[in-house]
Amino acid sequence: MTYVYAFEEGNKDLKDLLGGKGANLAEMTNLGLPVPPGFTITTEACRAYLHDKRFPDGLADEIEARLIALEERIGRRLGDAADPLLVSVRSGAKFSMPGMMETVLNVGLNDESVEGLAAHGGARFAWDSYRRLIQMFGATVCEVPAGYFGDALDKAKHQKGTRNDLDLDADDLRALVGVYKKIFEEHTGRRFPQDPREQLNLAIRAVFDSWNADRAALYRRQERIPADLGTAVNVVAMVFGNLGPDSGTGVAFTRDPGTGAQGVYGDYLANAQGEDVVAGIRNTVPLQDLESIDKASYDQLLGIMATLEDHYRDLCDIEFTIERGKLWMLQTRVGKRTAAAAFTIAAQLVDEGVIDLDEAIRRVSGAQLGQLMFPRFDLSGTHRELTRAVGASPGAAVGTVVFDAARAIELAGQGESVILVRRETNPDDLGGMIAAQGILTSRGGKTSHAAVVARGMGKTCVCGADELEIERGAFTVRGTRVAEGDTISIDGTTGRVYLGEVPVEPSSVVRYFEGAPVSEDPLVRAVDRLMRHADSRRSLRVRSNADTGADAARARRFGAEGIGLCRTEHMFLGDRRELVEKLILAEGQPAREAALAALLPLQRADFVELFRAMDGLPVTVRLIDPPLHEFLPSLTDLAVRVAVAGERGEDVGREKELLTAVQRMHEQNPMLGLRGVRLGLVVPGLFAMQVRAIAEAAVEVARAGGSARPEIMVPLVGAVQELETVRAEAEKILTEVIGDSGVRVVIGTMIEVPRAALTAGQIAEAAEFFSFGTNDLTQMGWGFSRDDVEGAFFWRYLELGIFGISPFESLDRDGVGRLVRIASEEGRAARPGLKLGVCGEHGGDPDSVHFFHEVGLDYVSCSPFRVPIARLEAGRAAVART
Ligand code: ADP
Ligand code: MG
Ligand code: MG
Repeated sequence: MTYVYAFEEGNKDLKDLLGGKGANLAEMTNLGLPVPPGFTITTEACRAYLHDKRFPDGLADEIEARLIALEERIGRRLGDAADPLLVSVRSGAKFSMPGMMETVLNVGLNDESVEGLAAHGGARFAWDSYRRLIQMFGATVCEVPAGYFGDALDKAKHQKGTRNDLDLDADDLRALVGVYKKIFEEHTGRRFPQDPREQLNLAIRAVFDSWNADRAALYRRQERIPADLGTAVNVVAMVFGNLGPDSGTGVAFTRDPGTGAQGVYGDYLANAQGEDVVAGIRNTVPLQDLESIDKASYDQLLGIMATLEDHYRDLCDIEFTIERGKLWMLQTRVGKRTAAAAFTIAAQLVDEGVIDLDEAIRRVSGAQLGQLMFPRFDLSGTHRELTRAVGASPGAAVGTVVFDAARAIELAGQGESVILVRRETNPDDLGGMIAAQGILTSRGGKTSHAAVVARGMGKTCVCGADELEIERGAFTVRGTRVAEGDTISIDGTTGRVYLGEVPVEPSSVVRYFEGAPVSEDPLVRAVDRLMRHADSRRSLRVRSNADTGADAARARRFGAEGIGLCRTEHMFLGDRRELVEKLILAEGQPAREAALAALLPLQRADFVELFRAMDGLPVTVRLIDPPLHEFLPSLTDLAVRVAVAGERGEDVGREKELLTAVQRMHEQNPMLGLRGVRLGLVVPGLFAMQVRAIAEAAVEVARAGGSARPEIMVPLVGAVQELETVRAEAEKILTEVIGDSGVRVVIGTMIEVPRAALTAGQIAEAAEFFSFGTNDLTQMGWGFSRDDVEGAFFWRYLELGIFGISPFESLDRDGVGRLVRIASEEGRAARPGLKLGVCGEHGGDPDSVHFFHEVGLDYVSCSPFRVPIARLEAGRAAVART
């Protein structure tokens, strides 16, 4: 078993084994770029170490052999007193986890070799490097709180009367090393290790162990990185950016990772070691300034960046160091980028002939498109950022700060926009979360209660703002106090929190989808280009859920190719409630028929509007689904009203009647009660009225020269007999109404009860199409009701990893997905050409869309706003490499 690879032996495709950093160091080495020599200890070694709590057999020998080879190649020995080789020990997992794991620089320095280093590089540089080693080694390997070292450094600068660490001279730094060693001893009970080999071994172990640090584990859960991968360790010969003004260190991007704009972006810091750039100790200069500082290195760097882009065919980010005018590459990878940059860059690379359009749509995602569709803060004016935390649920929310749920409800009731600020939320806060415009918490990450519930509600949420100190009625952050009643703005995409009201601007991408012409804006052009390509590739059609003509028209502008779900119950609300009450209270056939007859023209008008908006495209209309008592006043309200009015001696005849009806219809568990097809079978004439309204509307539209394509969908069917009964009655009406108008109406069913999925072969005999109602299928498949449980325990399930994501957000492939698969296969076997679609929330969820593509459904249907996302993902599913 080989546990250690020299950089010459690896390549970029070995990320599993060498981690991202190691694989790319190897790739750059083999490209002939100036990478300091070194070697990589594999993730396999890490996994073995973490399992057995000791180095696996042979690892120590391999490290030894590689180290000797490195020493020979460089001509110096690790920690040699006269002229030491120093190394860095760097973590690097398969997936980049920025700042999550550890790196130790300058390994090999001790009280003797620091003098040897001084003889070659100067005393100031040598002591500076030594103090850095003690600081990093102490903090990462021995868990000395980093603050102690930082405080000591600040004190040294203060004594010197400066704020710049460059003003500390060799003697100051030598003294500081003394202080650091004391700190080290106090916290570890031992002297700072002087043996370079021991330093190296301990640092390697520390990097291995850092895989399991709390923050790394949390990050992995949030980013859904498997917990068992382990990290590789890179041991790299040190090169020094802190050797004087002709040395330095920097980071760079081959394109702007914020906007995707072409051109070189980066920061440079003279006379510094790598971690200083990120730590923000001194102000960096823009990379462009390097041209005047060191033109030769700058030109070489630009050349290398072009090489890397060519090679990786994508935006790369890099870390480099210049040691006395010599450029060294310390890291590269395909760089992270914002959603806007992802689209812009993908389109640019197509223009440049680097990638094709299939590859371009592989490189963007529906989630990114979704981000681009949220309104954004317009940050062009002045604004004050308070803190940055976890963007847990996207959106831009502005409101008055409140600290408890009750107050949130109260103020929101008065029409105020509020931001609910809590340490963390719990199920008791639910009402306040619903009332609030946005939610800000100081604890917890993307899987906390607040985050999960907010995402479920589509509400802006920023989590884990641990700089916030929340007291009674106010919080303090970096010295600023924000009290109840003050206004803040929170960005659920970036996790940023601002003081005061930041103006919100609508998304240019939404304006484009709404029909605005493709502008000069490179982002809009990129989105247009990629969307067109996705449309040309996808085999899934995309419909929208819409109940009104206005919704349907908007969905159509967003690219919907029909309506996959029209919920007719929405048509029973508002000023029609009275008619519905009459229907429910009707005693005897004549009264019922009168009530239905009054509803018929209203429904017909609704359908006409819908069919017109979707002219030429299919419109799936679901017959009424919820229990009828949902249309009546609540039991308690009504009981109180009757009691009060009765005491006053008023006439409560009608209300009493209603109350009796409500009591009679009250169900312990309405989700599993008298609803869907069961209603149709129990309430005579109800479905018939709806079928008639649909058919008449279609005929009316057709007679006026339009083309209506209704599809009647029967909800909650569990047995074919239910559907057959409804169908027989409907067909009679259809024949009668349609006559010779040429309209064609098809009848199908939802598959949303597990029994329906499992008897799909039988049900297909009576259904011309299936539409998977994956919300109910998920509820009934798991046996929990969405409305009751999401806030109650999902956060715990996510914490425990029982779900990676709420099954209402993304389809549970293994369970509910299996029901979908079985029903699709058996349905199509019984009726070839059976049309299959999905109309639950999952129709707009990227991962679920890929699943539906794999299963071979004909279409997905989702809310109008998610139509573009589903179109893009359907295209991506079609070109996915498996
Ligand atoms: P991270 O993964 O957090 O970026 P790195 O392993 O890249 O951590 O190292 C942190 C910093 O130390 C980087 O800025 C890097 O450039 C610098 N660094 C790492 N190894 C060396 C080395 N051999 N010589 C000089 N600087 C180094
Ligand atoms: Mg790095
Ligand atoms: Mg349903």
